[in-house]
Amino acid sequence: MSTQKRILVTGAGGFIGHHLVTRLKKDGHWVRGADIKYPEYAPSDADEMEILDLRQEQNCLLATRGGIDEVYNLAADMGGIGFITANHALIARNNILINAHMLEASKMNGVKRFLFSSSACVYNQALQKNPDVAPLKEEDAYPADPEPGYGWEKLYAEEMCKYYYMDYKMETRIVRFHNVYGPLGTYDGGREKAPAAISRKIALAKDGDSIEVWGDGEQTRSFMLVDDCVEGLKRIMACDYREALNLGTDELVTINGLVDIIAKAAGKTIHKKHNLTGPQGVRGRNSDNSRTRRVLGWEPKISLEEGLAVTYKWIESQVAPKK
Ligand code: NAD
Repeated sequence: MSTQKRILVTGAGGFIGHHLVTRLKKDGHWVRGADIKYPEYAPSDADEMEILDLRQEQNCLLATRGGIDEVYNLAADMGGIGFITANHALIARNNILINAHMLEASKMNGVKRFLFSSSACVYNQALQKNPDVAPLKEEDAYPADPEPGYGWEKLYAEEMCKYYYMDYKMETRIVRFHNVYGPLGTYDGGREKAPAAISRKIALAKDGDSIEVWGDGEQTRSFMLVDDCVEGLKRIMACDYREALNLGTDELVTINGLVDIIAKAAGKTIHKKHNLTGPQGVRGRNSDNSRTRRVLGWEPKISLEEGLAVTYKWIESQVAPKK
């Protein structure tokens, strides 16, 4: 019996979606990608890559047509901390439209499973005030006080996924990503995240130069290489669990520490110039992986040092002056 599935990946022109399509094709599935843009750095491996604005319900119906078994709904208007703190209304409106229409279209077209990509930005901000923060467990999202804009719309869409199971028995899965990084991710233009932004700055710096770091650099996060992320996504789609699951590493690092690891990968001495008015988000955030381990018998395991070495190399090759 064939195990090949018909799979839709929305956001397939973006960072995680692009990697996921490549992996699903390697595994032998038929894959349709949908996005408002093609992938920037490499062509998509999807069988069909369709340009569709998923804020429109008609386009969500098109994307989910033709007997799709599984939807990985990764499309979202998003970016790094600079972008999400400056665009609350835009992000909230666009993403609520995408998620509401994608859920309804999936139900109407008889999709069997729907996975929603949520975020660690749903967690209560009061629990994230110290750099040596206690790792966040899934239940820490309530009582709710998430990141304005981006966090609120993710939390609401999580609830919608649960309603679609309760009322229509459409199987839904909820993944809370904690900072994903890796090759083929945005590294300039204002939407890039800390690992990519710092890699770009270091690639452009000379040995002994200083680079700008937002805040005092003592804010902490955990970061997951996209290879682990894609593996986790597949496992979560396949599991029986319908509540939210963290998908991240629990290797906590300060942003200053992140600079040091990337500088080492680059083989450069880099000094830090702290911009205390730069946006830094919550003070500390880490993933508690107990529930993920229990449900999946697995958790992300690629170390930051290993993942950043690969990522830095790719960004360096992108920003190097073309000969
Ligand atoms: P990304 O920005 O690279 O990809 C998102 C894609 O969605 C983009 O290609 C964008 O063009 C597309 N999109 C935006 N508006 C659209 C629309 N109206 N119609 C169709 N497509 C549209 O981001 P990513 O890092 O690949 O993130 C994928 C998902 O994971 C997102 O839902 C994001 O919120 C979530 N997430 C990512 C991280 C992370 O660290 N990368 C962390 C938490 C959550």
